[in-house]
Amino acid sequence: MAFQWHKREICDSMQTLSDLVPPAMKPSRPLSNKAKLITLLWLLLSAGFLATTLVSYFASREAIRESIVATELPLTSDNVYSEIMKDLVRPILISSMMSRDTFLRDWVVGGENDVGQMTRYLSEVMSHYGAFTSFFVSEATNNYYQAGGLLKTVKPEEPRDVWYFRVRGMNEPYEINVDPDLANRDKLTIFINYRVFDYQHRFIGATGVGLTVDAVVKLIDEYQQRYGRGIYFVDASGKIVLTGRDGIAGDKAAHAGIREIDGLRDQADAILKTGQGSFEYRNGGRRHFLNVRYIPELKWQLFVVKQEDKAIAEIQKTLYLNLGLCAGITALALLFVYLTVNRYQNRLEEMATTDSLTGLANRHALELLLDQGVRESARAGAPISAILLDLDRFKELNDSRGHFAGDRVLEGIAAILRKSVRNSDIACRWGGEEFLIILKNTPLQGAADVANTIRARIEKARHEIDGSPVALTASAGVATYRPGESKESFISRADALLYQAKQEGRNRVCSEAIERSVHDA
Ligand code: GH3
Ligand code: MG
Ligand code: MG
Repeated sequence: MAFQWHKREICDSMQTLSDLVPPAMKPSRPLSNKAKLITLLWLLLSAGFLATTLVSYFASREAIRESIVATELPLTSDNVYSEIMKDLVRPILISSMMSRDTFLRDWVVGGENDVGQMTRYLSEVMSHYGAFTSFFVSEATNNYYQAGGLLKTVKPEEPRDVWYFRVRGMNEPYEINVDPDLANRDKLTIFINYRVFDYQHRFIGATGVGLTVDAVVKLIDEYQQRYGRGIYFVDASGKIVLTGRDGIAGDKAAHAGIREIDGLRDQADAILKTGQGSFEYRNGGRRHFLNVRYIPELKWQLFVVKQEDKAIAEIQKTLYLNLGLCAGITALALLFVYLTVNRYQNRLEEMATTDSLTGLANRHALELLLDQGVRESARAGAPISAILLDLDRFKELNDSRGHFAGDRVLEGIAAILRKSVRNSDIACRWGGEEFLIILKNTPLQGAADVANTIRARIEKARHEIDGSPVALTASAGVATYRPGESKESFISRADALLYQAKQEGRNRVCSEAIERSVHDA
């Protein structure tokens, strides 16, 4: 409580001691230590936060990659595969049965006589199995039969008939061919073209069914749009044979083949050769994950691609948010530490320079301030004076009223001193019940006047202790600094004058130049 009161008093009436002590005289280590502490804390907090944030970011990014490569893409691939199988396996089976059908072969070997018979056969197959179209092309006549009747004659020079002449020369029993069907608003149609042989294994034509791939295309579209994946089928030459309605994942600049896709070009041959697996490539500066699966039924590869950025955009946002939060917390923590350290530093500085009982400057602080004051006065050519004041017969007061009462009186004397000096002056508790007052810009006479005022105020004061007033007096010695002398000699001259005042009967002020005692009482 006593400390608080003094502190407030100091702030109200004069500058704090910390302010008065010149920067050059303040110990400089605590300041640079403070900067070091803040920097170290900043480094530690930043490094800690950065490390945890980045580690968790990279861990989640790795987990996302892992889940894309190991789970998402293979799952998509499975779904698309089973959907296209649903669409394709049955037609292949049907076409295979047609190529082995004894009616069909007998009818061809027998001279293709009754077109109605063939038309009925094809129409039955189509309607029964729900195919989009069914056909037979004869090697002997080059006639193209359909459920609706004889359609036309295929010619090698006709681009639309090229498929037949290809099937005719191939080794495999059948091929799957994707063509836009001109007869049906260019709908993408998959034809199963099966080679047909007579009983002597002579090639007699090609048969099969055609179907639309609407269901697969719809599924691909859904995956591409909803999950941001690219899905397409690639044939053995690297040509993209089937993908969604909007091209690869909405990429309108539809690519004809995988060799036209940037980043994939270099790996195309390896991927086509390997058949299946997980691959990575960069396109437009972004990482792409690719899952390739070979579909033996189609002799195609199913490509499922996902861009990395789309997947990690979310966690990237989280990363920035985390970094922002960490920076904010670091700043708050540093501010808190800075303010706390400052508070304790100020308090320590104050404690080191302040007398705890009276709240006045202590002897240590005064020595620093006196050095500064003497230098200033020498520079400015202004006089500086000192009053050394000692309470009279204070021991008796202690003995009669107790040490505690003595303390209260010392506090009262400090209050009188504070009231009697200017802001620029320094009052200090020099020893037990001795006080030293340094008066800047004050000649001897001025200092003697101040000393007398103080002496008179002390004499007049009544210190209320346990309900009864205590009165006492003080003696003082006043000296003015002589240029060039040491501060010890300056103070000891004041001390000698104080001694003289005591000798002359106390309750008086002795000053050098006047060389006589002044007694206002
Ligand atoms: P004189 O007039 O010659 O100065 O007589 P004096 O009794 O004041 O003599 P002296 O200076 O020898 O005694 C000072 C006394 O002040 C002795 C010491 O016990 C007392 N004192 C010193 N510091 C404190 C303090 O903090 N509190 C109290 N209560 N007494 C103190
Ligand atoms: Mg005394
Ligand atoms: Mg004394």
